[in-house]
Amino acid sequence: MKIWMTGLSCLVLLAACRKEVTTQILTGPNGTLDKQAVGRSAHDLLSADTYTSLSLSIQYAPGMKPLDQSINNLVNFLNTYLHKPVGITYTETATASLGKDPASTADITSYEDRNRQVYSDGNTLSVYLFLADAGYEQPDVIGLSFRNTSIVLFEKTIQSRSGGLNQASRITVETGTLEHEMGHLLGLVNTGSSMITPHEDSTHKGHCSNNKCLMYYTIETSGLMNPFGNAAPALDQDCINDLRANGGK
Ligand SMILES: [Zn+2]
Ligand SMILES: [Zn+2]
Repeated sequence: MKIWMTGLSCLVLLAACRKEVTTQILTGPNGTLDKQAVGRSAHDLLSADTYTSLSLSIQYAPGMKPLDQSINNLVNFLNTYLHKPVGITYTETATASLGKDPASTADITSYEDRNRQVYSDGNTLSVYLFLADAGYEQPDVIGLSFRNTSIVLFEKTIQSRSGGLNQASRITVETGTLEHEMGHLLGLVNTGSSMITPHEDSTHKGHCSNNKCLMYYTIETSGLMNPFGNAAPALDQDCINDLRANGGK
């Protein structure tokens, strides 16, 4: 049994969090490639060396379907940085309730193990996105990248904190969270895509030191939860340079 260190990275409303936990790599006919540490598939996601297409498998718990525009924004983001000549596609499927609120990381990984249907295969890389009908055990956390091809959005928390009077739009929050967590799968910052210029936040590992960047550890001050902001932040040049150097475009 091989033990990998899995870096967990998450986007938070008010505070940062990034944890290190140990998890075992799961063996079996399906999924072995997809059950590694965050960032390990950065090059495979960015380049077309092995995988020429990307398939997003989106599952949402009852009432947690993401807005179409949020998914369109994510696909546009991916088309901007990933070499996938055969294309980037997605499927959306309604799934069962997580059945626990708040949820722990173990609850989320267990849910994925029971419900994920699509794994990377042949020349198609698969990424799993789950929109949970729950918050995280740390209540300010709204998203988490927890394996090399796995992301959860704590959509219940997102819906309760967006779209209302004096709240940011739900599209902005969903889009920013999806893109930030995807940035971690792409190896940002310094977790699978090497830095061309040093820009990792020394106190919030895995994040960018630029407070205007999508990969800043908390982007509350640059618009994600700002009722006056109308778009999620973009990647800054340092982050883009790292992606390009690791096979991205
Ligand atoms: Zn993060
Ligand atoms: Zn950055």
